[in-house]
Amino acid sequence: PTTLAFVAPWESSRAVANIPREPRDDVVVLLLESVAKGSSLPWHRQKLVLLLSSMQHFAAALEAAGYRVAYRKATSYAEGIAAAAAEFSAAKVVATEGREQDMVDELDRARTLLDADGRSLTLREDRGFLATREEFATWARGRKEHRMEFFYREMRRKHGILMESDGTPSGGQWNFDADNRKPWPKGRAAPEVWRVEPDDITRAQMDRVRTWRNRWGSVETFALPVTRPDAKAWLDRFIAERLPEFGPYEDALVHGAPDLLHSTLSSIINVGLLHPLECVRKAEAAWRAGLVPIASAEGFIRQILGWREYIRGMYWHLMPGLRTANALNATRELPRWFWAPDGEAYDESQATSAACEMRCLADTIRQVRDYGRVHHIARLMVQCNIATLIGVEPAALSRWYWSAFTDAYEWVELPNVVGMGTWGDGGALASKPYVASGAYINRMSNYCGSCRYDVKQRSGPDACPVNVLYWDFLASHQARFGTHPRMRMMFVHVKNIAEPELVQIRAQAAAFRDALDYDSAFAPPAVV
Ligand code: FAD
Ligand code: SF4
Repeated sequence: PTTLAFVAPWESSRAVANIPREPRDDVVVLLLESVAKGSSLPWHRQKLVLLLSSMQHFAAALEAAGYRVAYRKATSYAEGIAAAAAEFSAAKVVATEGREQDMVDELDRARTLLDADGRSLTLREDRGFLATREEFATWARGRKEHRMEFFYREMRRKHGILMESDGTPSGGQWNFDADNRKPWPKGRAAPEVWRVEPDDITRAQMDRVRTWRNRWGSVETFALPVTRPDAKAWLDRFIAERLPEFGPYEDALVHGAPDLLHSTLSSIINVGLLHPLECVRKAEAAWRAGLVPIASAEGFIRQILGWREYIRGMYWHLMPGLRTANALNATRELPRWFWAPDGEAYDESQATSAACEMRCLADTIRQVRDYGRVHHIARLMVQCNIATLIGVEPAALSRWYWSAFTDAYEWVELPNVVGMGTWGDGGALASKPYVASGAYINRMSNYCGSCRYDVKQRSGPDACPVNVLYWDFLASHQARFGTHPRMRMMFVHVKNIAEPELVQIRAQAAAFRDALDYDSAFAPPAVV
């Protein structure tokens, strides 16, 4: 009897897909384009191209290797699986456990449809991670606090990464983060944005999605790898060219530079073109060969072996409540800027809006529009910081991240946005909100010098809005955070602001929030 092996769109290579190692006559590999999924959010066009082109390349590579492959379009994953099972008279369907809640639901529906036809569905563990869901759940059980650092150490031991034979961490420390806090050197040009030239398959997908309505972002600058060989070459290039200096400049921000020395690997790993362990092993090997300092190698390894696994574990730990978590009771809609930083119309049915004059926010949103990405600190300390200070509802911000980034899936964006970015989860991921004044952005970036606002002022018409909102945020959340050990200094500063100025700051912050364009009609319309 035939077995159908369903491969999710984010399992686009043999490094992660749950399929037999060699072609088999009795196994058909099924890849599906789901119309429901493809139109469930106003996805960034480059994200659609990445997924579609990777799937098509994977299907072609499997066929070339002798596999039986079915590439189909269906109204939904569940319907597509059931229809293909019938088409191939498959007694059994094998799939990877749902990576995020929507796929769990689809697989449940598929099971019901298959059951009715006398067929079975078997789920396998997700090969795209370094810890199983059960392992994380065991670690999380019975712990009051779930800090990434401790889970990371367990992962280091489990996989023997950066460990010495006597069981101690390489370099004598688990974490070298303290060395990694430098701004970008003045006068040094930002590294170029890497490109893989789109081939015919990719260009065909670009042509397809270019005209799709109710999607976001430009498609023309698409230049990510979509094949396993290109993905491996990208990783090697990162290890050789950027990893040596990755650590010190991890937090730096430069106008117009979405990546700086970051790897840009998240979209590539998350779509299944690279396995996380091969990335980690290559970084360790480069350190052992004396090619990169330990602070950089460890910093990068921590992102994948620590943060990526921890975030995925926390997603399941906190679901389903994480979707609506809102510990700070933030109720504003997303300002239009997030879809239209330059005040442009989102599509012809939409009115234009005011351009964003905050240089830091406008630039980081523009990069997302143009590349479908921007690096971690721009997400956390510019976009989420400002959205939190404005009081944007975490779920509204999360929808934007899920739609707009080429590396975004609910399992990874939701804990990052609702946990780390907005403190919507009430501290499950981070003990305090990541909020900062303009001074932080000024220290880590070259944004403020040419901004229309003055980063040195905290009140008055030219004051940097991040400052105004920050001091107002602290004043309004004093009861909750005033005694937090890591926020005490911030509140000492609040105390030192003279009463009349604090009154002015609070009024100015309220006026700023009220004047923003939140027109809900501008929210991406229900999708076709
Ligand atoms: P590098 O800095 O080179 O890091 C290497 C790798 O580590 C990344 O490729 C990624 O796989 C992993 N990693 C690092 N930090 C995290 C993290 N916090 N969570 C998960 N993986 C991590 N990452 C996503 O992959 N998808 C998302 O949708 C996403 N949304 C985010 C939203 C917010 C608000 C924030 C603050 C962070 C988000 N991140 C997300 C995490 C992180 O910003 C990106 O993984 C990173 O910027 C990707 O760029 P890079 O590949 O150059 O990363
Ligand atoms: Fe951003 Fe304020 Fe700096 Fe302008 S002055 S770039 S708004 S932090």
